[in-house]
Amino acid sequence: MPKVKNWQLGREMSYPYEERHPRWQFAFVFNTNRCIGCQTCTMSCRSTWTFSKGQELMWWNNVESKPYGGHPRNWDARLLAMLEAANPGKQVWDAKGAFDGKTIFEAAQTRKSGPGAQPALGFLPTDDDWRAPNAWEDTPTGGDFKRDGQYGGGTQLPEHSVWFFHLARICNHCTYPGCLASCPRKAIYKRPDDGVVLIDQKRCRGYRECVEGCPYKKAFYRPTTRTSEKCVACFPRLEGKDRTISPTGAPAETRCMSACVGKIRLQGLVEIDKDGNWAAAPENPLAFLVRERQVALPLYPQFGTEPNGFYIPPRWVPRDYLEQMFGPGVESAIEQYSCPDRELLAVLQLFRASRQIIFRFAIEKGSKVAEVEVTLPNGKSVTQEIFNDTVLGFNKAGEEVVRLTIEEQTFERPDVHVNSI
Ligand code: SF4
Ligand code: SF4
Repeated sequence: MPKVKNWQLGREMSYPYEERHPRWQFAFVFNTNRCIGCQTCTMSCRSTWTFSKGQELMWWNNVESKPYGGHPRNWDARLLAMLEAANPGKQVWDAKGAFDGKTIFEAAQTRKSGPGAQPALGFLPTDDDWRAPNAWEDTPTGGDFKRDGQYGGGTQLPEHSVWFFHLARICNHCTYPGCLASCPRKAIYKRPDDGVVLIDQKRCRGYRECVEGCPYKKAFYRPTTRTSEKCVACFPRLEGKDRTISPTGAPAETRCMSACVGKIRLQGLVEIDKDGNWAAAPENPLAFLVRERQVALPLYPQFGTEPNGFYIPPRWVPRDYLEQMFGPGVESAIEQYSCPDRELLAVLQLFRASRQIIFRFAIEKGSKVAEVEVTLPNGKSVTQEIFNDTVLGFNKAGEEVVRLTIEEQTFERPDVHVNSI
């Protein structure tokens, strides 16, 4: 099997195909600290792409309550258990932050031929597993949880003893997709212009190997057409074809991103250099959050698909749970988010500030407006200085699409309103 670079693992790994990279890559950051589980994103996707016959169990966007929720049921716990069984006790990160264990592609090599042989380790959920997209909604866990409805235990940072959080999920448009690796028909491809992963409906024969091979369970079978379908990253919007949002044809964000009520989502396109690395672009908000600051982390990077969705981890959740989910960068990400410096605070304002994709940000410095005492996760107290800086966002053509100050503007309603009686 060819060797490919995987920056999230800090090493090379085996993958069924040679490395090939798009010029730009669709990517997103979700801030789990802000998600309220309202499912507006879920319904905006549903009403755009999956409202037809045969798509009833298909949720390209879903929001599950962790630790118990999942669509399909227990999707992550089941795969983690399979990986552990394939490589007992060795699914670990080393002291330098590299993953020593086996990815889904490497673990699958232990079953090379005969029944059960797969390019990527996976499983096929049953219809029952897909049935309830939001089971265990808002259900907490923790040693002090009392079943009589009394929510005992502390809710003090750095870790709450009774906790849950909302995990919003879409297809990660992975660099090394498990769905693509698993397809015997070569019906799945990654677009060279934006890295979006699509299923060619003419080639697909509905074998469901992609459903089995996607570790995030974001490829779905449609019984009415006998083909598989998945998130298409609202590609007409990426191409700037929605002229209501993009009068000049600049790339726009997807429906689920645009609809987010909690302002947890920031989606973009990052430039990929000729070696397949993210091009150095610290002024691109995605590159700033993911590569420069590493405040947003990949979901289950140990699966090995190099997902292009990243999460700012929830501050209150026990760290061992977060580290098995987001890898070894959790503590540093939470520390930065707990007391963001001037630049990070400015970039955090860009979430849901524009429906056109922001390719570059700039900051105009303002005066100091506050000092706030903050307790860091390690217990140390620091003083955070807040400046009323202005953050600007620019679209692909370099046009200004966002101008926001750190201090939210307030408006006083006049005494007489148009709807006054
Ligand atoms: S998340 Fe799943 S469906 Fe999406 S690209 Fe990755 S492997 Fe394929
Ligand atoms: S719309 Fe935003 S806040 Fe609401 S569930 Fe979706 S991601 Fe969370």
